Amino acid sequence: MENDFREVLKIVKSYNDNKLALDLIKKAWKFAKLAHTGQKRYSGEPYVIHELETAKILTSWKLDTDTIVAGFLHDVVEDGAADLSDIKKEFGEEVARLVDGVTKVSHIKLKKQEIEEEYIENLRKMFLAMAKDLRVVLVKLADRLHNMRTLSYVPKDRQEKIALETLEIYAPLSERLGMGQVSSELEDLAFPYVFPSEYVRVKKGATIYYKKAEENIRKMKRSLLKALSSEGIEAKIDGRKKSFYSLWKKLERLGIEWNFGKIYDIVALRILVKTVTECYTALGVVHRSFKLVPHFGISDFIAQPKPNGYQSIHTRVFGPRGKITEVQIRTFDMHEQAEHGVAAHWAYSDAKRKAVINDQELDKRGVTASEEKLSWIKQLAEWQKEISDSKEFLQAVKFDALRERIFVFSPRGDVFDLPVGSTPIDFAYALHSDLGDYLKAAKADGKIIPLNYKLKSGQVVEILKSKEKRSPNHDWLEFVVTTQARREIGKALRKTDVDRK
Ligand code: MN
Repeated sequence: MENDFREVLKIVKSYNDNKLALDLIKKAWKFAKLAHTGQKRYSGEPYVIHELETAKILTSWKLDTDTIVAGFLHDVVEDGAADLSDIKKEFGEEVARLVDGVTKVSHIKLKKQEIEEEYIENLRKMFLAMAKDLRVVLVKLADRLHNMRTLSYVPKDRQEKIALETLEIYAPLSERLGMGQVSSELEDLAFPYVFPSEYVRVKKGATIYYKKAEENIRKMKRSLLKALSSEGIEAKIDGRKKSFYSLWKKLERLGIEWNFGKIYDIVALRILVKTVTECYTALGVVHRSFKLVPHFGISDFIAQPKPNGYQSIHTRVFGPRGKITEVQIRTFDMHEQAEHGVAAHWAYSDAKRKAVINDQELDKRGVTASEEKLSWIKQLAEWQKEISDSKEFLQAVKFDALRERIFVFSPRGDVFDLPVGSTPIDFAYALHSDLGDYLKAAKADGKIIPLNYKLKSGQVVEILKSKEKRSPNHDWLEFVVTTQARREIGKALRKTDVDRK
């Protein structure tokens, strides 16, 4: 146990060699051990191992000292022998606030097919806490990650519930926070408990494909490394396996019908380089070494990042024996951001504050640290004040905030992030709350589309306005999916009803 703790200290030292910080972390470890004396996990291990592992995950995201200390202390109030005033006295206001936040959001209970007031109230608390200080949720995610890693020890009758809650709330939440590594690990840990037979089927089918694809990747890697180094580029190349859960979701999609051969990114080749300029040079090298697959196109998420901040260039080429293979190119820093998302954002702003790194350097490496991307969290916190009906709030969270996303562009090239199934009407209300009142027709990629059309990722959507204000149509409520649109339409309709009376 003490060895594991020294390991945590070593990781912290690698990015923050401040004696005061290290002393505070040592103190937190001692405090946690005392507060959890005699308590055990289901695995039979001392309870405090869980605090240690939670803190370790937070250090791997390079978070600041207060957050790591809060990781060590996150259960001492709830399950241990200490209270908030002790924490405030020993570790200060900030740490106490974080621990309090985590304690308050720790009781999210989920009953299948059943809406519990208590559950929704806790979700409300979580989003409110998140809007105030994101680090609360980062501690919560680290806590959940370790609990999922040790789920096999939990009594059988509770496993499925915990796993389901992970799939419905925590995995999509981390996905929306841009934390790709966490969301796919959470999904893969929960998958076998929630959908056991599907899991077995995917695993069996994928194993064969992984093996074949890996062989291809090895060959491509060798020739690409050589070609890149002759351009003077020092690159790191990895094969990235698609996680079982996301593979399953893709296999279930229309037109694929469980044909593994139709999924081209089961294993993708990932090229990591130092600068943005090198990314584009590397793209040229890839296309000279392997033939580009026509019509699939190149996706340049560096020039146009995804709404959750994801940056990378994706292209598809014919690999050895004509096998179509996806190649992803990004800088090391973009990779860090894609894996750790908001957490990486925190780490970079911390480094900037301490003048370890400056803006030019961040720019060269392709780091975009923008708070704007998280506007949906603030939006949700706003709603939670406005929406008094619990069912409506739950719907806003599950079908709006945590649903799978598409992203579409305005004619000016601004990117908008909407839930899957969104229509031009949803887009109009996302653009501007009044725009729906002038909505006449809509175009996607230059062609007129019906108003109930389901938009697809990558489309450029244009709203055609009428000169005069008109009232939204009641039928729109049948097919809009965003809370924003539903609320604005409702408001406008209630108003016209009043006007008529
Ligand atoms: Mn915990």
